[in-house]
Order: sequence, then C-alpha cells, then structure tokens
Amino acid sequence: MINSAPKLSDKEYEENFKELTPPFTKNGAVAEANRCLYCYDSPCKTACPTHIDIPGFIKKIATGNLKGSAKTILESNWIALTCAKACPVEDLCEGACVYNDKDEKPIEIGRLQRYAIDNYFASGMPKLFNSKDKNGKSVGIIGSGPAGLACGAELALLGYDVQIYEGSKIPGGLSTWGIAPYKVRQEDSLKEVELVKSLGVKIKTGIRIGESISIDELLTTYDAVFIGIGLGESSKLNIPGENLEGIVGALSFIENVKKEKWNSVNVGKRVAIIGAGNTAIDAATEAKRLGAEKVNIIYRRSEDEMPANKFEFRLAKDDGIIFHFLTSPTEFFGNHKVEKINCIKMRLGEKDKSGRRKPVAIKNSEFFIETDMVIFALGQQANLDFLNSIPDLKISNGCVIIDEKTYQTNNPKVFAGGDCINGGKETVNAAYDGKQAAHGIDNYLSNKK
Ligand SMILES: Cc1cc2nc3c(=O)[nH]c(=O)nc-3n(C[C@H](O)[C@H](O)[C@H](O)COP(=O)(O)OP(=O)(O)OC[C@H]3O[C@@H](n4cnc5c(N)ncnc54)[C@H](O)[C@@H]3O)c2cc1C
Repeated sequence: MINSAPKLSDKEYEENFKELTPPFTKNGAVAEANRCLYCYDSPCKTACPTHIDIPGFIKKIATGNLKGSAKTILESNWIALTCAKACPVEDLCEGACVYNDKDEKPIEIGRLQRYAIDNYFASGMPKLFNSKDKNGKSVGIIGSGPAGLACGAELALLGYDVQIYEGSKIPGGLSTWGIAPYKVRQEDSLKEVELVKSLGVKIKTGIRIGESISIDELLTTYDAVFIGIGLGESSKLNIPGENLEGIVGALSFIENVKKEKWNSVNVGKRVAIIGAGNTAIDAATEAKRLGAEKVNIIYRRSEDEMPANKFEFRLAKDDGIIFHFLTSPTEFFGNHKVEKINCIKMRLGEKDKSGRRKPVAIKNSEFFIETDMVIFALGQQANLDFLNSIPDLKISNGCVIIDEKTYQTNNPKVFAGGDCINGGKETVNAAYDGKQAAHGIDNYLSNKK
C-alpha cells in the first residue's frame, strides 16, 4: 500500500469537487442574455467549432423561448451540455466576443448555453426534431464518446438504423470517464446519451469490437461503419523503476475519480505528475481535491511551451500545485513502492521537428523529488493494434487518415472522427466530426456527390 493521503469527510469531498461555475438563475440568465449585442458578423459563432447560432439562442433566452433556444443549440451540437460546461470558452466563443475589445467582460456564452440545455433536460426532453422516414440502411458505430453519439444522432434523423457498440459498461466516452467532475458530472454525460437514444439510436455496452465482435463481422453486417474509439492510456517514459507500486497512468486515476466514490480512491500524500497538458492539470487538481498534501507537476520544457491552456494553468496555481519546469525524471526509486524520483534540470536547445525548442539535460544538475505516487500524463496513445486490424485503413502519427470533407477513410465503407483522427483535441471537435461524418456517410450511401 502506498503512503496515502488521509481520507476527508463526505462534506469536504463535495466542497472540493463542487462545480467550478454555478448555473444561472432565471433573472441572471435573462440579464446576461440582454447584454448580448447580437453582432451582425457573430465572431462567437465563427469561433465555435460547431458554429452554433450563438446570438440566435441567446436572443431566445432573452425572450423566454427556452425550448427554441435548446433547438438552436442542438441543431449544431448534440453534445451541448458537456460543451457548455467544459469547453475552453476563453479560447473559443467567449474569447471572440466583441466585449473583449471594449475591455468589458465577454458574454458568458457557455453558462447561457448550459441554462438553455439544463432547462431542456429538466422539462423532459420535449421532441424538437422530426426524423426522415427509415431508408432501410444501417450503420454500425464503434465507441459511444462524443464523436460516436453525435454521428449516431445525426444518422438517426437522416433515417438510418444505428447501432453503437461501446466497450465500457457505461456509455459516454471521456465525458463520462475523463472530464473533471467539477466541470462535468457523469449524470450530465448520461443525459446526452439518453437524448441520442431517444432519437432511436441503439447502444450496446460492454462490447469491445475486435474482442467480442470482430471488425469483419461489423463490416458485413452494416452498410457503413464509423470509428469513434478515441485514444488509449497515457504512454510511459521507459526509464528505470516505472513498475514500482504507486506509479499509474492519468486516465486510470481520473476514471477512478469519476466513479465519484471519492473516499475509495487511493491518492498519495505527495503526488508527482509527469507532463503539463490539460490532462496533467486535471490529474493534479483532482489529486489535490482528494486530499493530497503536496502535488508536483514535472515538465521538461518551460512554461511557454506547456500544452495546458491558460485557464487550466490558473486553476492549478490556485489549487497550490507546484510546477517544476525544465525538469525531467530519469529514474524512480523505492522499496516495492515509489518513494522518490531522480530528476535532472534541462535547458532549451535547437528547435525540433515540431518547431519547439528541444530540451537538453544540464550535466550534474540532478536532484530528488520525494513522492508517494506518480501519475503519467504524457499524452494518450492510439489503439494501433485495433486500428491496424481494420482493412485498408491508413494511419499516420497514430491518427486515422480521413478525407477532410467526407470523413471517409481509405476504406470506403469506413468513416472516422473525434480524438482518433486528431490525436486528442476537445469535446466540441469530436461533436463536430461526428455530425459531419454522418453527412459523409449519408452522401456515400445515397450516392450523392
Ligand atoms: C482527462 C481528460 C480531460 C478532458 N477534459 C476536457 C475538457 O475539460 N473539455 C473538453 O472540451 N475536452 C476535454 N477532454 C477531451 C475530450 O474528452 C475528448 O476530446 C472527447 O471525449 C473525444 O471524443 P471521442 O468520441 O473521440 O472519444 P472518447 O470520448 O474517448 O470515446 C471513445 C469511446 O470509444 C470506446 N471504445 C474504444 N475502443 C472501442 C472498441 N474497440 N469497441 C467498442 N468501444 C470502444 C471507449 O470506451 C470510449 O467510450 C479531456 C480529455 C481527457 C483525457
């Protein structure tokens, strides 16, 4: 057993994991909606990867038409609740709001979107869309994350029979298992799953394609197949001591936290996170909220190259996370369980292929960081074994290659979207891909150009 942080009371866990952004009250939402300038060129709409008619849905909130507002949002984005709560809005819609140029607070677009969608779910998901008549064709979807759900929803409206296969027991992908609980709770993600099911999409859980059912069987059963499998666990560094007890991948740690029995999640008193992307920040802040006394983030480049966005960095700083920039682990030490990390200081050298300056070790600069737990957050890996088993699929740098307009892969019957084609972006990108791929599939199966 690792040297664990003391357990907190249920009240303390609830407080630590409470939502970062509380919902609007009715008056608050209407007042905020009335602040919107309804710009003619809507830079917010352009900045949203799913191009929601943002001024349109905000106007409907201002006039009390909440059902219409939800319809405007869902017409563009089926994963609207997760996106409302977890999108990096500072870099997208809210970052493009014209109020920023006037040094005024941008419209709280994410929070308003949440207000409309919360209301839609609370009012029992009234029917908003009419599906086309059944066309007798069927599509099999692998994965029930945002990409698979969005693709399924759109295809169902277009008249297809849709069957989603999900390897996990609970559907929803990383909205259910990955995104931090202080942003999106499992129950939010499951509401989106219910919405997609209400359109006629069938979901079988606990079925991993390639294990329970072969990809060949899927390809003969369905007229087309969509791959929305996301990515797998974080990679490791291949340095000595990596198999010591207390060294885990970020995704498995985060998945445990999402199960929401916080007092049963084992977290070290002192935790070290390797990597500095958004997943690293999530693992760090979640460890801290579980009661870890000291959380260190170790990153081999400098703050400027750190992949985490500004919002996440601020969140980690506010949580008291300690950052060790220009530092790289070289070996883990301990008696069965990890006790300390040998680290070396780095400097930035010449640019590498990615255009970033390459970190170079500084001689005789080694030092130890004492720790009870290490979490690897070095970026997720593609499931190459599975992808390589799909006939004619082209893969480059761990990403499935698709036609950018149609989302069709090199195998004409197979389409793909989400993290497995972009190497890991945001929910909103997966939601967009899934929807666009549905239209690519429709064009292919109805022989439209
Ligand atoms: C820790 C973490 C935090 C994040 N936080 C945010 C955030 O705050 N905001 C944000 O916008 N984005 C966030 N993201 C990114 C976002 O979650 C992803 O971009 C998005 O979920 C990708 O959707 P997807 O459908 O492509 O894949 P996933 O959500 O990964 O879904 C893929 C699904 O396919 C299933 N599957 C895989 N293989 C098979 C198989 N062979 N057979 C059947 N099923 C299979 C998986 O079980 C999974 O359910 C985060 C990601 C991580 C890892």
